[in-house]
Parts: sequence; C-alpha cells; structure tokens
Amino acid sequence: MRIDVLGVGFDDISIEQATLRALEIMGGEERAYAVTPNPEIVWQSCKNTALRDALNSAELVLPDGIGIVLGAKILGTPLLGGRVPGIDFATALFEKMAESNGKVFLLGAKPGVAVKAGANLAKKHPGLIVCGAADGYFTDGAAIVSKINAAKPDLLLACLGAPKQELWMAENRDNLGAPLCAGLGGSLDIFAENVKRAPVFFQRLGLEWLYRILKEPWRLKRSLSLPLFVFAVIFMRLKGKAGRM
Ligand code: UDP
Repeated sequence: MRIDVLGVGFDDISIEQATLRALEIMGGEERAYAVTPNPEIVWQSCKNTALRDALNSAELVLPDGIGIVLGAKILGTPLLGGRVPGIDFATALFEKMAESNGKVFLLGAKPGVAVKAGANLAKKHPGLIVCGAADGYFTDGAAIVSKINAAKPDLLLACLGAPKQELWMAENRDNLGAPLCAGLGGSLDIFAENVKRAPVFFQRLGLEWLYRILKEPWRLKRSLSLPLFVFAVIFMRLKGKAGRM
C-alpha cells in the first residue's frame, strides 16, 4: 500500500527498509527502478502524466524531501518512515554493496563528473566496484545502454535530473541488464565534490532546499513550485481527497 501525495504513491518505509528492499532486488531476477521525488517533481507530475506514470511504475518510490513528509501529514496519511534522501539511500547501499564487492555504474552529470565521483566513492567504500561511468549528455541512447550492460552492474545510478531520469528509467527498464536503477538527480555532483551538500544543521531541520537556493539562486524560479505544492496539498485535504493507493 502506498501513500498518495498529489497522485504519486510513496512507499512508507524507513531508509533501512528501503536499503534492504533494494539489496533484495539486486540479488533477484526482476528489473526494477527507484525514484526519489521531492515536491518540485511531484508538482511537475501533476501536469505531466508520463512523468506521473513513470514515478508510479517504480518499484521503490522514496520521499526525498521534507516537503513530501509534511504534505503527507497535512493530507492526514503521514509517512511514518520519515524522509529518505536519495543521496543517503545511495550511500547506505554503497556501504552494504562494499561488503560483497557489489558493482555500480554511474550515469549522469557533465563530462568528467561521473568518473571523478566514481574515484571518490571507490576510495570511500573499499570493496565497492565502480564498473563504469558516463556523462548524462549522450545522444546515442542504444549505445549507452549497451555500454552499461557490458559492464554488468548490480546497481545503476541514473543522475540525469528530473523528469529526464524518471522517463529514461521507465523507457529502458526492460533493456537494462542491471537489476536495479536509481534516479538520483544531482548526487554525482556531490559525490564528485563539485557541489557541497548542505551542512548537517540544514539537513536536520529539513532545510536542504533552502541551502541550495542560497548557494545557487538560479534555483529560486524552480522552487516557486514549492508554495504551489503546499496550496494543492491543503486544497486536496479540504476536498477530502487524501488517501492511500
Ligand atoms: N543532467 C544530465 N543530463 C541532462 C540534464 C541534466 O546528466 O540532460 C544532470 C546535471 O548535469 C546534474 C543533474 O542532472 O548533474 C541534475 O541536477 P539537479 O541538481 O538539477 O537535480 P536535483 O538533484 O535538483 O533533482
């Protein structure tokens, strides 16, 4: 059962449970993908049905931002597992994968970033195998899928930004050999240390979004969807349209 936030069904699980489920998928035969929508992505999906379908078709739908957790609370169907930031989910997975020489392929960001992120991750998680990396500005989709499949990853990080990564994962789920693919936005820029993650103080207060706006003011325009998301959630609550799906 999922918690419905403006048409997107979220899994009500903790980061530990999400990690265990992801490891189970990686050890099995199914082909699955994980998404980590924040309020901005959910708001986009209200106007983009292909995006909404791609989100709801994911095996794991994890609430990346505090806004989703608050939205679910306002709707009267709280997410008891709390938020699951995509970057923390990936880090928890890397720690577990390192124990058994798990293989990850990094796809996304500008040329050179994925390779740099891979070098940092391999250093930070001895045992984790970074089996390949490619930038997110490819033009030959079939060639990139072949390159990923040749590397035989257990996990593919698709960090192409929203909605590109969600649509790409939904379209390529059956072409990809990797059991699990996770769409993680700007995470490679952080793993490459090209972009600094918000200090723990901001993370604890659920204010990472504010830190990003302060550091990268061009994000302000994109963030205008935040108040619209909140208004829509309150409107749905007043209309009594909250619920589970
Ligand atoms: N990106 C990409 N291919 C594209 C468009 C974007 O690889 O065609 C990358 C971009 O370089 C950046 C990431 O996708 O590394 C999006 O980062 P952003 O911080 O905007 O995502 P968020 O974390 O906010 O979802």
